[in-house]
Amino acid sequence: MNVFDTVKQSVTARQAAEMYGLKIRRNNMVSCPFHNDRTPSMKVDNRFHCFGCGADGDVIDFVSRIFGISSLEAAQKIASDFGISYDVKSAVTKPKKIICRKTDAQIYAEAEQRCFRVLSDYYHLLKKWEIDYAPNIDDETCHPLFVEALQRKTHLEYLLDILVFGEIEEKALLVMEYGKEVASLEERISEFTCPDAEDGTGGSQ
Ligand SMILES: [Zn+2]
Repeated sequence: MNVFDTVKQSVTARQAAEMYGLKIRRNNMVSCPFHNDRTPSMKVDNRFHCFGCGADGDVIDFVSRIFGISSLEAAQKIASDFGISYDVKSAVTKPKKIICRKTDAQIYAEAEQRCFRVLSDYYHLLKKWEIDYAPNIDDETCHPLFVEALQRKTHLEYLLDILVFGEIEEKALLVMEYGKEVASLEERISEFTCPDAEDGTGGSQ
């Protein structure tokens, strides 16, 4: 086994995050080191994924990005920092890439990516609405977008969690189940994110 496989099997992104000084909070969340993260938006588990900037990958990608070193250097660093021995002779063998035509698996992967992108965009809108439309003390009614944010945020977190960390079967089920909703959400999101769609909302940072 080469250093890549050995390291990936022995160390999780969570362990590496801890080792290199990131504070792990509830639900394995950490403040993302790759963007200016005010609330911990990165989940570290076997892999890592940031719900804020979309940074994603395995433990080697993680360490390589943190220290600005190559994948091989990152793998070797992890092995040395965690005291893992590996077969040095095969250390420089790069992981094999499998090349194939557009298969059902690929078509599915694209659907899954789209689903993730749309749900994640929507999630960010909800988070924005929750702040932008928060009621004042003397408001008698809440803004509908604020209500929507409150009602749906947790569910969206749950769905995104499945898409990032779930088993293949769970993800496939979700992608199928939410196919229609994703399509209509995509349309709706574009109304809010298209810069020409609405005037007078600029100026906030
Ligand atoms: Zn991030």
